[in-house]
Amino acid sequence: MTAAKRILIVEDEPAIADTLIYVLNSSGYQTEHVGLLQTALSRLQTASFSLAILDVGLPDGNGFDLCRQLRRFSDIPVIFLTAHGDEIDRIVGLEIGADDYVTKPFSPREVAARVGVILRRLGTDANKPTSTPNTQFDLDSQAGRIRYCEQLLDLTRYEFLLLKLLIEHPERIFSREQLLERIWQDPGDVFDRTVDTHIKTLRAKLRLAAADQDPIRTHRGLGYSLQSR
Ligand code: CA
Repeated sequence: MTAAKRILIVEDEPAIADTLIYVLNSSGYQTEHVGLLQTALSRLQTASFSLAILDVGLPDGNGFDLCRQLRRFSDIPVIFLTAHGDEIDRIVGLEIGADDYVTKPFSPREVAARVGVILRRLGTDANKPTSTPNTQFDLDSQAGRIRYCEQLLDLTRYEFLLLKLLIEHPERIFSREQLLERIWQDPGDVFDRTVDTHIKTLRAKLRLAAADQDPIRTHRGLGYSLQSR
């Protein structure tokens, strides 16, 4: 038996926190709950967690700021709890390094399932050697810009998020489902070929910058990855 994974729940509404604690404990996770951004930050700095669930609206700040500060010293997976299902929230969250989203009101079991998916994915990744970043890409997350072979790419929002994710995880294969889940707001509304279409336009734009290269790889039946160099 491996030790139970510890999950930090940052949520100021006790009823929501309680349901999360209950369902996560029932799924075999240990939990710790805090209601303030500052408390969360100091716990994250001093204790070790496998994952953090962050409410976006906290009494002393917001979950995005917390995630930004967290990313300076840790890359543990983060799931945001967002109140309004606002697309802006999702986009901002992805850009600052969230792994997933849940919109309130949510099913606690769905949250537990997503926690499981993220931790399993991470477990698999841990066995692989770390890949070196592709140095032909220059990602500026703050400005929402990507340079490739010294040229600024003119990307749509989804192309940007797609390429950013691939750049941040060189050599990692993302299935269409994973890409849909992590980048598109409501995977129910889009089809598998949405990903293919965006990959196609992205490749065309990369070819414009460097005609002799094709850094995005297609893995038949599996998905897509970005060459590490
Ligand atoms: Ca709240």
